[in-house]
Amino acid sequence: MKFLRFGVDGVTGFGVLDGERVREVTAYPFDGESFEETGVTYALGDVKLLAPVEPSKVVAIGLNFKAHAAEFNKELPTEPMLFLKPSTSVIGPNEQIVYPSHMSYRVDYEAELGIVIGKRAKEVAVDEAADHILGYTCVNDVTARDLQGRDVQYTRAKSFDTFAPLGPWIETELNPLDVRIESFLNGEPRQSTTSADMIFNVYELLSFVSHVMTLLPGDVIATGTPSGIGKMKPGNTIEIRVEGIGSLVNSVVARPTGSV
Ligand code: MG
Repeated sequence: MKFLRFGVDGVTGFGVLDGERVREVTAYPFDGESFEETGVTYALGDVKLLAPVEPSKVVAIGLNFKAHAAEFNKELPTEPMLFLKPSTSVIGPNEQIVYPSHMSYRVDYEAELGIVIGKRAKEVAVDEAADHILGYTCVNDVTARDLQGRDVQYTRAKSFDTFAPLGPWIETELNPLDVRIESFLNGEPRQSTTSADMIFNVYELLSFVSHVMTLLPGDVIATGTPSGIGKMKPGNTIEIRVEGIGSLVNSVVARPTGSV
């Protein structure tokens, strides 16, 4: 089942995707309870898809694929390496990634599988992690690579407004242990690896993070990017595709001149 959040006529709604139609529902079943349909439906093309959740935080994982660690000549981690992306970095499908040219000259895409938390998770065991997951979405962990190298930690490089595209929706029925994660820059393939190559799988990651911080319904864990990362420029279009979910497409635009 694909849950989505949309805007139509200035109002925000929640829905379930049914082919090319959206069946409106009252809310997401974050607590595992059933949800109600309102009886209203829309053509998919008549609504604006929004980021499927408004997370309190996006918890991201660094170096979770062996080949990506090799890309940076990094040792394989013995436990997940965490960093945060602020809620203000989240944008939805087809929204614009703004190039922070006042500070960075190297901005990269990172295709990732995103875990969407359904039920509050605090100190959850690995074998109970699935009970806390609503579903999965595509994430682009946009990164100012030059700043990542210059700063001693990742906050600035990962946190610019628009640096966390999410979407296009949440797929609840997915085997997260073996799905293909891809990116396409201007339609050209750039990354393609399956989640089977993760060093720590989604359940291990959720459990680990939940022993550090409480995960709230709607929070997102970005599970790390495969090898093949690269830079984007204003005018580019970047597509993140996860098998079984769909495609998250965003364009990159120059920062408006004179903005602060
Ligand atoms: Mg990443």
